[in-house]
Amino acid sequence: MNNYKKIVSDLINKSFPELKKEKIKIIELKGRIFWFLGGFTVRGIKKDFILINSKLQKLRILELKGVLAHELCHVVDLRGKNFIHYWILIIPYLLNKVFGGSLIRKIENKTDKETIKRGYAKELYSFGKSMEKRYSKKVLSKSYSKGYLSPKEIKSYAQKIGKW
Ligand SMILES: [Zn+2]
Repeated sequence: MNNYKKIVSDLINKSFPELKKEKIKIIELKGRIFWFLGGFTVRGIKKDFILINSKLQKLRILELKGVLAHELCHVVDLRGKNFIHYWILIIPYLLNKVFGGSLIRKIENKTDKETIKRGYAKELYSFGKSMEKRYSKKVLSKSYSKGYLSPKEIKSYAQKIGKW
């Protein structure tokens, strides 16, 4: 748990200066979590919450940095939205199937690209690689259909914009 806090505060100091005053609480969720493999960011009234799948404990620091930098990109994005706007966004996100999944695809794709732009391509790539080792093709293709970039796509996008 301390590990997450330390990584998040290092990431903020290094690459997310706009979040220095933001209150972010990290909550680790144990047990089976079906709807996210990594983290999930929720905006509260006074603080943001990053929910972390407890399975991530097994990851290396490099991989954790990738997934947490991705969540911090969500926090940056959400800060620009007020609470009500956020919940208007999140409802179709959570009811993905009803809305055909296009909103999730747009948000996650944009967030992965932002993570790369901020300089965390190799970290995100390592996280993707470790997910490839841990999960079946079926689970992974479901995840990629939500807009997350595959390790191959992460690398090629990063090379394209000079961030590899
Ligand atoms: Zn995300």
